Amino acid sequence: MKKITVISGKGGTGKTTVISNMAALAENLVLADCDVDAPNMHLLLKPEITGERIFKSGKLAVRDESKCTECYLCLEFCRFGAISANFEINPIKCDGCGVCAAFCPAGAIVLEEQETGYIYISESEFGPMIHARLKAGADNSGKLVSEVRKEADKVAKEKGMELILIDGSPGIGCPVIASLNGVDAALIVTEPTRSGLSDLKRVLEVTRHFGIPAMVVTNKYDLNEGIVAEIEEYCWQMDIPVIGRIPFDPVVNQSLRDGELLIRYREDSKPAQAIKTIWQKFKETMVL
Ligand code: SF4
Ligand code: SF4
Repeated sequence: MKKITVISGKGGTGKTTVISNMAALAENLVLADCDVDAPNMHLLLKPEITGERIFKSGKLAVRDESKCTECYLCLEFCRFGAISANFEINPIKCDGCGVCAAFCPAGAIVLEEQETGYIYISESEFGPMIHARLKAGADNSGKLVSEVRKEADKVAKEKGMELILIDGSPGIGCPVIASLNGVDAALIVTEPTRSGLSDLKRVLEVTRHFGIPAMVVTNKYDLNEGIVAEIEEYCWQMDIPVIGRIPFDPVVNQSLRDGELLIRYREDSKPAQAIKTIWQKFKETMVL
């Protein structure tokens, strides 16, 4: 079984459009949407949710009013200023450090694990899909990505699937690293802008650091062919295969506006044809 993560280094490069359309061309795959801070693959693939579980992470101090003697020690010790003068604990400010619970002489404070999101097991037209939603303001998205990955591995093994296609988060932080952990390759979708090139270099540093083979696709390449030349020159120097270019076409945004997959919305469009070619090269490169 092969595991491939599609990442972008920055948001807005068209990563989810590429992965969603590739999913529609693939067979025997499990999809994992690990862009847990802003998941949107489900909007295009419209999966049916068949299972759901709560994701818990992080702790929050909870005070038992009946035991509290109002000694003010917890206010004194909380360096996050999370406890107000009337002893209410602000869940946004509380870091879950546990100092208040440790020093409370009345044993009136306990730390409780928080429900910070949901993991969904779904069936899409193209195969099982695991996705998640983090509650607003919740952190630990890297841990949630790992949980989505574990669930995807389990489903892929149970159903004998050959490929897990993972939609990673933008950036180079903890959720991206969690989405790259142990994969066979990373497909990076970039765009021809200065920030696109800069973020591509940063994300390639991450894949190189973890020894993950990478491939690059440039979206909307015809908007700035000068930078495309720089991107491809950089990839050539770094020995990174460039497996395709996708042209700009307003039809891509029209398909997104209407919530449809491009390869169905306008199969004969140039971007749809480019994605099909990329999928073929991707399969050859990955020996799928
Ligand atoms: S340290 Fe404990 S007893 Fe003292 S005010 Fe805080 S919760 Fe109440
Ligand atoms: S757990 Fe830490 S951050 Fe939260 S209220 Fe207690 S001392 Fe403050």
